[in-house]
Amino acid sequence: MMPGPDVILACTHCGAPHRAPTLATFNTLGVSCWTDGWCDEPPSFMVPPLISRCSACREFFWVRDARRLVEKPIAVEEAVTQVTQITLEHAGRQRTAVSHLLSRELGKTATKAKQVLDGLPVRLGAWSPEEAEKLAARFEALGARVSRESSTARVMRSTRPLDWKEAPRLERPNKAALLLLLRKGFAQEPMREWELRQQLWWMSNAPHHEGAPWVSFRLRTRAAMDNMDVVATLRASDSDEHRLLRAEAQRELENFDEALAVLDEAPFPAPLSRVADFVRRLAREHLAEVRKLPLS
Ligand SMILES: [Zn+2]
Repeated sequence: MMPGPDVILACTHCGAPHRAPTLATFNTLGVSCWTDGWCDEPPSFMVPPLISRCSACREFFWVRDARRLVEKPIAVEEAVTQVTQITLEHAGRQRTAVSHLLSRELGKTATKAKQVLDGLPVRLGAWSPEEAEKLAARFEALGARVSRESSTARVMRSTRPLDWKEAPRLERPNKAALLLLLRKGFAQEPMREWELRQQLWWMSNAPHHEGAPWVSFRLRTRAAMDNMDVVATLRASDSDEHRLLRAEAQRELENFDEALAVLDEAPFPAPLSRVADFVRRLAREHLAEVRKLPLS
């Protein structure tokens, strides 16, 4: 499992760029998956979230609908830029305060700051004219004397648009945000609603994927229970995989007869049949907890 280069996705509302992770290589060999469809790998930071919130306009958007901005190769060009050289000429009477300023602003140790003050005048460095002016003003406010000298410096500059390079990572909405989106009808198509609810299902089961003892859905929050009722009954797709997950949801809700009925609607093709048999066995034993699938 190797992370790939980030891609840049545009917010579907305002077009603001966001960085999204990609996987360079991924194989499922030896990856632990669970009866609720959750897999321990790839880790979530390596995959984009289903829904994100734009860092610019603060609207939510489906990540899969986001347009991918074309990645340009990073080119660098040499540029000449104006800088201001600052020299500390005299510390003045507030020597201790100036020493602290050297430590705070320039990261000098107390010993190094003392050496600077003992060896004045000392060139402190070069900054952009605005930065240099701010720094000089700080020293002058303490009664120190500084001199400024303008010069030019050659720098290497990336030609990729700045807003792409510095684009924020895609935000992952929390449980409360997802619930609010559902209430507001953010997921129009049944399959999208189901996928959004599946995220909530996984969030609710997350402690159990990490080894916490099973807690019945009846003892969880009202929102978690209500969500599961829809997950178990919303026929968002005709696929066998979707039917298997609905059966699993019924089982986790302790509706074991309903779970078995959904499983028995039609035979499952391989390799789903192996998972279906496992879920069927758990339902027959009246076991509701989410389980790690046995590795084939
Ligand atoms: Zn936006």
